[in-house]
Amino acid sequence: MNLFTETNLSPDILKAIGELGYESPTEIQKQTIPFILSDIRDLIALAQTGTGKTAAFSLPILDMIDDTSRKIQLLVLCPTRELCLQISKDIKNYSKYMRDIKTTAVYGGSSIMDQIRSLKEKPQIIVGTPGRVIDLINRKALDFSAIHWLVLDEADEMLSMGFKDELETILSETPDTKQTFLFSATMNKEVERISKNYLTNPHRISVGSINEVKKNIKHEYYVVGYRQKKEALKRLIDANPNQYSIIFCRTRMETQEVADFLMQNGYAADALHGDLSQAQRDTVMKKFRLKNIDILVATDVAARGLDVNSLTHVIHFSLPDDPEVFVHRSGRTGRAGKDGISMALIKPEESRKLKQIKSATKIEINERFIPTGDDIIKAQVGGVFEKLLTEHEEDIFEFDDSLIPDLSSFSKEELVHKLLQFQLKDLALYYKDKHDLAEQKLSSRDDDYSRRDRGRDRDRDRGRDRDRDSRGRDRGGKPRRKDENMVRFFFNLGKKDQLKKLDVLDIINKATAGKSKKRAEIGDIEILEKFSFFEVEKSFQDNVMSNIPSMKFRGKEMRAEVAN
Ligand code: AMP
Repeated sequence: MNLFTETNLSPDILKAIGELGYESPTEIQKQTIPFILSDIRDLIALAQTGTGKTAAFSLPILDMIDDTSRKIQLLVLCPTRELCLQISKDIKNYSKYMRDIKTTAVYGGSSIMDQIRSLKEKPQIIVGTPGRVIDLINRKALDFSAIHWLVLDEADEMLSMGFKDELETILSETPDTKQTFLFSATMNKEVERISKNYLTNPHRISVGSINEVKKNIKHEYYVVGYRQKKEALKRLIDANPNQYSIIFCRTRMETQEVADFLMQNGYAADALHGDLSQAQRDTVMKKFRLKNIDILVATDVAARGLDVNSLTHVIHFSLPDDPEVFVHRSGRTGRAGKDGISMALIKPEESRKLKQIKSATKIEINERFIPTGDDIIKAQVGGVFEKLLTEHEEDIFEFDDSLIPDLSSFSKEELVHKLLQFQLKDLALYYKDKHDLAEQKLSSRDDDYSRRDRGRDRDRDRGRDRDRDSRGRDRGGKPRRKDENMVRFFFNLGKKDQLKKLDVLDIINKATAGKSKKRAEIGDIEILEKFSFFEVEKSFQDNVMSNIPSMKFRGKEMRAEVAN
């Protein structure tokens, strides 16, 4: 089945999707359309948004729906209002030429009375969010006794948003004879449990998830300690001027904190997460779409409702647990034929998680160093010219030459210099006395540690010493971070053993993993030709000493001693 015209879908449907420009079914449509048209079993489909799953379930259902009946035959449950509106809009488009078919969307944050009124028109299709559907059931405004098909869309998200009880209540309101289709981007325990309890002998399909890594996205990661993450984020933003990006966080609180930090530092940013009211979320999304803000800080769930194609960067402020989520987040950039950059901030103790993501997704993620002040200024100068040279003519206003004072005493170069200095003054002042970040947690020495980096680090060290007074305090009066809490170890392996920083992190994590959840703090790691040095929190000294000798790296014995 390579063309829709080869399916058995009715002419009305083919006409409607033809007008939308659909010619060939997507992978998931190829699998689900014939299945739904001919099979009575339930279905579990592993597929993400963007694979064409709405059409995958709704086209065959529209083909079979009874347009002479005025009872609800299809119920689609989905996690957010945005998705709800999107799905109902798609279904309305597909059923454009089916005059007697009516679709109604019901979701929270909007007048329930209006929705009740619209239900009185007897739609055959309901698309709803679980909370609002329950409200309407309680008000006896919904009757599910004649349902043929139930679709749980983004089941994983509905469960992670805490809709478990609502789903179970709704499922128990629907007849046993219905056919249930569960769509989910990931398969976790909760989704398995729901499927086990509410689906019968389901057929399983899986499409285009993890292997569909886009090739036009460059992946980078930056190692940085927890306390310096926001400052590191600021540097990544400053070093990538003219960006239009989403910054992904794990929790609502983290999202708000990061957004507040950016706003306080003068960036056109805002937060998008589930603690905001629907109206607030709508406003933020609108601002972002119109590019009134160019940085959106969001949780995974909240960002799902947002469909923008021109993101230049995706920043993972915190790594997700699930490698698929990493792919999904990163895939928000590099759309519509453009290149994209995905940047992840990782804490030293997250080396294992990063490895997992790398091996599950087969994505090449390269380590980069947090930009220095010089890197940033250089990038900003480039950014000014990029913007100047690509600005659309219609965006630049005309003004009278008489407004410009006499500048004949300046050369062209002098003028450009002055304008740049003027434009970048605040940024240059901010970074003037700032230490660089990369080395504060981890050594930037690595196999691909270039001469330029070496020179830069040396200069930086000098600068740092100059900035401290004789009592070892920063000029700002903060105690020096060189810590009594850390122990420096000599380690018997080095570059000749193909030892990398990530390996050392892994070794330390393994050696210090104990019953308690507390993770050892890891400081500098310095890998030299024949041996290395690393720093670990003092309270883990004994674990390092006693566990490392019993471990091996590429078959080699390991030894760690406290360095002088
Ligand atoms: P979904 O995964 O349902 O959110 O769909 C992603 C996008 O693909 C939507 O904008 C659909 O309109 C579009 N789409 C779905 N199926 C097809 C198809 N067979 N051909 C072209 N576009 C499609």
